[in-house]
Amino acid sequence: MADGMETESRKLLGRLRDAMASDDAGQARLDKITHLIASSMGCEVCSIYLFRDEDTLELCATEGLKADAVHQTRMKLGEGLVGKVAKKRTVVNTPDAPHAPGFRFMPETGEEIYSSFLGVPIQRLGATLGVLVVQSRTAREFSADETYALEVVAMVLAEMAELGAFVGEGAAMSARHQHSMLLRGTVGQEGVAEGHVWLHEPRVVVSNVIADDPERECERLGEAVDQLRVGVDEMLTMTTDKEQQQVLEAYRMFATSKGWMRRMEEDIRSGLSAEAAVEKQQSMARARLGQVPDAYLRDRLSDLDDLSNRLLRILTGQGSDTGAEMPADPILVARNIGPGELLEYGRSLRGIVLEGGSVGSHAAVVARALAIPLIVNAGRITEEALNGDHIMVDGEQGVVHLRPDDNVASAFRDKIAMLAAAQERYSSIRDKPAETRCGTVIGLHMNAGLMADLPSLVSSGAEGVGLFRTELQFLVRNQMPKRTELAALYARVLDAAQEKRVVFRTLDIGSDKVLPYMKPNEEPNPALGWRAIRVGLDKPGVMRMQLQALIRAANGRPLTVMFPFVAQFEEYRAARAEMDKTLAREARLGHVLPSKIEVGAMLETPSLAFAPRQFFEQVEFLSIGGNDLKQFFFAADRENERVRKRYDSLNISFLTFLERIVERCRETNTQLSFCGEDAGRPVEALCFAAIGLRTLSMRPASIGPVKSLLRRCDLGEVREVIDRAREDGEMSVRGAVMDYVRTVHQSP
Ligand code: PEP
Ligand code: MG
Repeated sequence: MADGMETESRKLLGRLRDAMASDDAGQARLDKITHLIASSMGCEVCSIYLFRDEDTLELCATEGLKADAVHQTRMKLGEGLVGKVAKKRTVVNTPDAPHAPGFRFMPETGEEIYSSFLGVPIQRLGATLGVLVVQSRTAREFSADETYALEVVAMVLAEMAELGAFVGEGAAMSARHQHSMLLRGTVGQEGVAEGHVWLHEPRVVVSNVIADDPERECERLGEAVDQLRVGVDEMLTMTTDKEQQQVLEAYRMFATSKGWMRRMEEDIRSGLSAEAAVEKQQSMARARLGQVPDAYLRDRLSDLDDLSNRLLRILTGQGSDTGAEMPADPILVARNIGPGELLEYGRSLRGIVLEGGSVGSHAAVVARALAIPLIVNAGRITEEALNGDHIMVDGEQGVVHLRPDDNVASAFRDKIAMLAAAQERYSSIRDKPAETRCGTVIGLHMNAGLMADLPSLVSSGAEGVGLFRTELQFLVRNQMPKRTELAALYARVLDAAQEKRVVFRTLDIGSDKVLPYMKPNEEPNPALGWRAIRVGLDKPGVMRMQLQALIRAANGRPLTVMFPFVAQFEEYRAARAEMDKTLAREARLGHVLPSKIEVGAMLETPSLAFAPRQFFEQVEFLSIGGNDLKQFFFAADRENERVRKRYDSLNISFLTFLERIVERCRETNTQLSFCGEDAGRPVEALCFAAIGLRTLSMRPASIGPVKSLLRRCDLGEVREVIDRAREDGEMSVRGAVMDYVRTVHQSP
């Protein structure tokens, strides 16, 4: 930037700061600012447009346009030149606005007489708050320096808005972080919770945006960057892992990038403080992040984002530990979180809200295991929430109420009370069997994956653990767990279960479950790829180690083991042979063998339902992994939000298929259970029971609701409803069964 221009820009920023320091109310401040910008840029018009809601911009202050238009003129995102700046998050610079593509004539503003137009987005950390515009009568294109100066001013405005500078009497804009809002996301774990926000990574607050002494600011920046580099170097020496080193090398490259440094120094010379300069570049990188399709580049941009955060913490002295105290009723808010970190918080959390994440992510698996309500994909929650904000998480609807008003809060509390009353009803039947009105008893077991789940065995009234997912212990570590560690853990699980049956499922990795210490395989379709038993059989070392650990844990007690994702008889035979070999080896080594051993398989691919009769005769039990089975039956990815719920589990075709499996097991007297998520949904569970399933395994929290419904129903009647729906050619039996359920709810 030319030196003269730099001085101009600094002068303008200095004046802006004075305007901010005045006692004026929000609107008066904004008016003063538009006046200052217009006069220092030699333009007749300067206007500030801010978002009223997600897609409406409103003229909030102007110098030069008709005063009556303020708070009256509105436009949709993408509409007119202003809407275009906001939508595309780009600068629009034209000498002939009325003839520029997208121009919209707004007679109430009187702007038709202005020819030149320069609009820049007002954005902060990737979020667009509005648009800043200057216009002039003479037709001219604005220079790069002028554009840059306006961008710097826009950034300062965004920071000031963040600090609540424009709130007050006749407010131009309501303060961010003060108004209540509703965010929609996807349910990761059901349940409702009320509490206060605890940010996993607290935001850095930049309170001094403008600085007078560029030399001093550049020095501060230089010192902070040096400190940052030393930190990255230290991290590099601490790891011996090749891949982590590669990531850190890329990281270091950024930390020493001349371009990054140069851009920040330029920002400082135009009048920003060192931290504001870091944040401006971070903001621009975030805006690009959303538009880059290339995964590699996106990763690099997010490296930069991470480095910027570190730099901001150094400059502002705000460490990740800000000294804030965790509230007594914390609801964790994070962009994303790893399973290990989540386990560290443990059950102290009332709820979790993630900006990213997915229903099948490891964090979701942990949240489910801990029975903590979880919402994923919750908009821009980390930008909107502040530590200590009042927050309500509705894990039934997938909604988050941030700083709810009194009406919302009281309606929500009614809902919590209603659910608590239902919970009380469930605990009153905890020790009663899940016996239907027609006298059929259904075995209800629970799914688990952590030691922390085991107390639920008593509190939920489950008969045993129908599925113990063993991969969590592998996923939450940085290295392969040792056999002795696993044996000790499995022994503790069996101790806690007392005499109850625990079905241990051998390691189910691959697909979305990637071990941090195993080289990831690039596979075009990981869900259909090298996973679960396929890995176990091809690389039997880990499977053998796990089987040994299980045998040693049982130490003379009964042991039940289940192999995941068996697609054909041969795979079961091979896995069973591994088990027999391991048993023989353990006996030779002098270990006590289990008093009884049952070896089963999960039926998760349609192919296994059509396996030879001999398979059904040989396998000791089968458990339907409905989550996987359904995704392969309908060819609909369980991780893909677009198709995940497209096909109903109570679709006639799927139910008919399940019925076929029940029949085959009946013919050969093979024990059968269902352990996918659907088993925990009362109406689904009822239909499964009606078609002949006698054992269901589910999340502990589902046992009460499922049992309560089963006890009120007659399976013969449900069966009739299903058969009728099938004869009528219905796509799903859900509607008809729900109608039936309503009649039993009404009966005394
Ligand atoms: C299933 O697929 O239904 C199942 C229980 O296994 P997971 O969800 O762990 O894949
Ligand atoms: Mg599965």
